[in-house]
Amino acid sequence: KNPVIALVGRPNVGKSTLFNQLTRTRDALVADFPGLTRDRQYGMGRVGPVPYVVVDTGGLGEPDDATWHHMQRQAMRALDEADIVLLLVDARIGVTPGDDALAREIRERGKAVWLVMNKTDGVDPDVAGADFHSLGLGKPWPIAAVHGRGVRQLIEAVLADQ
Ligand code: GDP
Ligand code: MG
Repeated sequence: KNPVIALVGRPNVGKSTLFNQLTRTRDALVADFPGLTRDRQYGMGRVGPVPYVVVDTGGLGEPDDATWHHMQRQAMRALDEADIVLLLVDARIGVTPGDDALAREIRERGKAVWLVMNKTDGVDPDVAGADFHSLGLGKPWPIAAVHGRGVRQLIEAVLADQ
């Protein structure tokens, strides 16, 4: 069975951009409108030796957003199907209550989770990363999905750990 990797995180952190890098398609909708890709999207990919399935999710906003409950259900179903969860956060924004709520949900489910800090282009990953220690998921793995930077290394590490 191919490992299933779920991409979760707040809207606009770069999940669909990473999905496209991992599947090399334009299937996931990438847009500047937060939360546009509401439903799950599946793709097959292979950047190293092992093929995998990637699941993109609409993501979660802040807990008081009107769409939060619908999106949370989608993301939680994706979590349940996944072998590996990549929790994406935004290096340029820092930790938010939405990140915190998601990290808690993932930990409660006991899933293998990797904290992935996206948008590290033009920022110091050590400075930006320090903010995310409060999530309790260790040191974030820095990537810049828009340029594909760090993506291959991340996936190889994730799959090797399986
Ligand atoms: P999603 O809502 O989590 O699926 O986020 P998207 O993939 O749609 O990306 C939201 C916005 O962030 C888009 O404008 C992307 O081009 C931008 N973005 C994604 N990855 C990066 C990155 O590594 N660096 C920068 N600077 N912008 C990025
Ligand atoms: Mg998206």
